[in-house]
Amino acid sequence: MTILTDDERELQSSVRSFLTKKVAPLVAEHERNRTFPWEIVPALHDFGYVRGLVHPDDGGDGISYSQLAILMEEAGRCWGSLRTTMNILTIVPYLISQVGSPEQKARFLPPLLSGERRAWFAMTEPDAGSDAASLRTTAHLDGDHYVLSGSKVYITNASHADIGIVMATVDRSAGAKGITAFIVDRAESDYEVNDIPHMPVRGTSSCELVFTGTRVPKENVLGEVGRGLSAAMKAINVGRLNMSMGAVGLSQAALEESIKFVTTREQFGKKLGEFQLVQEMVVEIATLTETSRLLGMNAARVLDRGEPARMECSMAKYYCGESVNKAATLALQVHGGAGLMEESPVERIFRDAREATIPEGTSQIQILQMGRELIGVSSLR
Ligand SMILES: Cc1cc2nc3c(=O)[nH]c(=O)nc-3n(C[C@H](O)[C@H](O)[C@H](O)COP(=O)(O)OP(=O)(O)OC[C@H]3O[C@@H](n4cnc5c(N)ncnc54)[C@H](O)[C@@H]3O)c2cc1C
Repeated sequence: MTILTDDERELQSSVRSFLTKKVAPLVAEHERNRTFPWEIVPALHDFGYVRGLVHPDDGGDGISYSQLAILMEEAGRCWGSLRTTMNILTIVPYLISQVGSPEQKARFLPPLLSGERRAWFAMTEPDAGSDAASLRTTAHLDGDHYVLSGSKVYITNASHADIGIVMATVDRSAGAKGITAFIVDRAESDYEVNDIPHMPVRGTSSCELVFTGTRVPKENVLGEVGRGLSAAMKAINVGRLNMSMGAVGLSQAALEESIKFVTTREQFGKKLGEFQLVQEMVVEIATLTETSRLLGMNAARVLDRGEPARMECSMAKYYCGESVNKAATLALQVHGGAGLMEESPVERIFRDAREATIPEGTSQIQILQMGRELIGVSSLR
């Protein structure tokens, strides 16, 4: 790819080499067992995962969004579950560093940035998905504590982590303006976690969280009361970039697997890659991958200029998510029956690609948000 600087190329090559040697050999077994090799995470911190986006004054590395984009592409190329896990572990400390009080930063950032503790982020509820502003988990003040009641669903890795950010409303009648973010520490606040079996990214858990009168100290309000949604958007926008570039990585892996297959498998006395219709499929995967990469890196460059890049992140999330599904479907077709077998990497890539169009705002929600931006009319409310 020509749009990377020399330093970025060096980062890409070093992280790719590490993931290929140390993580790729573990993927098949963890995928089969639906587990994650947590022991690899500390070594990943040194590349900029987890602590990268946090400013050095707060104990982070202060990497650029472009560097982050490269890290997420490489994680996605290696294993969808790795990209999903690195996303959540990276955006929670980022959000605390962006809107947390000095006390919250001093308390929560060191264990998250060192990897001693892990984080989750909970917005989605059984009756509030795309329409996050309609969430029903309530928080009411009782002395020095807020009392949380309600439930969340599909929360990534909540069963593997014990510091979370929960979005709850202090006043349902205020709509979005009642929504507040709380930092919940399992060491002091009790809640229930249940695993929900799911199709893609099998090295992650997808959890239901139940809050039944969960007491959270009032100093754990993250940012201002009633400003939770706008605080969360900071993390969600970066999450969109991360998902876009993770999708690029999955597409890249689909391309590499397809080239490997068509240059070795023979039918009709020739390598598959000699047939023009097969070449067309491989070229289509390559084109989807490269166009996705250009849009994802563009969003990262705009964020690096200090601009909000809402439109660019939405466009990248929409395009990269849809494209990786086309690329993964083509890669399966290129592989014939072999691609549908669980021993084939493209079987996993196909399942993991399905994740790309749903979290951090579905494709339809990205379209509607871009429509509002371009046309000036919201179709959502
Ligand atoms: C693997 C995975 C991990 C996740 N991790 C987390 C997490 O860590 N934390 C968290 O809070 N959430 C998480 N989620 C939840 C995710 O953010 C939601 O699934 C997503 O926002 C969509 O909400 P929903 O599933 O309720 O679908 P719905 O909102 O019910 O949407 C169903 C369908 O209707 C479409 N739709 C909805 N509204 C409109 C509209 N106005 N116009 C047109 N179409 C519309 C949607 O695009 C979709 O196709 C995760 C989900 C998955 C699958």
